[in-house]
Amino acid sequence: MNDTLEGKVVLVTGASSGIGQATALALSKAGARVTVGARRTDRLESLAQEAPGEILVLKLDVTDRQSVEDAVAATVERFGTLDALVNNAGVMLSGAILNADTTEWTRMVDTNLLGSMYMVHAALPHLLRSRGAVVQISSTSGRTASAASGVYAATKFGITAFSEALRQEVTAQGVRVIVIEPGFVSTELAGHITDPTIRAMARDMAESMRTLQPEDVAGAVAYALTQPEHVAVNEILIRPTDQAR
Ligand code: NDP
Repeated sequence: MNDTLEGKVVLVTGASSGIGQATALALSKAGARVTVGARRTDRLESLAQEAPGEILVLKLDVTDRQSVEDAVAATVERFGTLDALVNNAGVMLSGAILNADTTEWTRMVDTNLLGSMYMVHAALPHLLRSRGAVVQISSTSGRTASAASGVYAATKFGITAFSEALRQEVTAQGVRVIVIEPGFVSTELAGHITDPTIRAMARDMAESMRTLQPEDVAGAVAYALTQPEHVAVNEILIRPTDQAR
């Protein structure tokens, strides 16, 4: 990657809503050719109509290794290369540890942590050839855990650990690894929380502040991806001004 996105090929996971959707659109507007992956392909088709540039719509489930490998292969087949992976797909099923429904833990680990690792595994050979970049959408929960976010935070702490190891392994070959840690962003994310009390807390928190918008995070991704080749922006922490903790 260098300081322009013109013609660059970027694969964005979880592009059917929120941060992924806004990022795919921003990168397309900046001239990138973008593969958009998620399970809700109807949303992706609408995004493709709106985006100004070339878009490849793919049904992608990051918890399914074959689906991940197929998505990377289809991108390279269509565009000839892969310059950046935006590892964004995620779920946040917040709740207390006591009496938790552990199937929700499995979903979070499978999606946020293993899913993003599978994506890196599949994309890395191509990124090494293109001297590309990996953007990991982590969270402020990847820096500070809090009550009712134990497993979600564990997945995001895990992403940080994996990303630092990855950075050390590939930086000498010109691949840049960028971890983005947003605070509260207005998206569908908290709507999937099954515990009504925690879901209401998240809604109250959103209403108590001027939250970030998905486009704010998309701007951070675009910033990191358009630095000159010798500049590696490894970490961006971006919170709403109104968010104290
Ligand atoms: P959304 O719920 O709007 O978006 C989540 C995206 O992930 C959707 O496009 C969804 O697509 C996709 N997704 C979920 N599971 C899978 C799967 N198994 N395979 C492929 N795609 C999947 O939330 P956000 O935009 O907020 O979340 C995006 C990322 O940002 C997440 O990693 C989240 O942890 C992180 N984040 C969000 C913050 C916030 O406050 N909103 C703060 C910090 C980080 P589909 O269901 O169609 O498959």
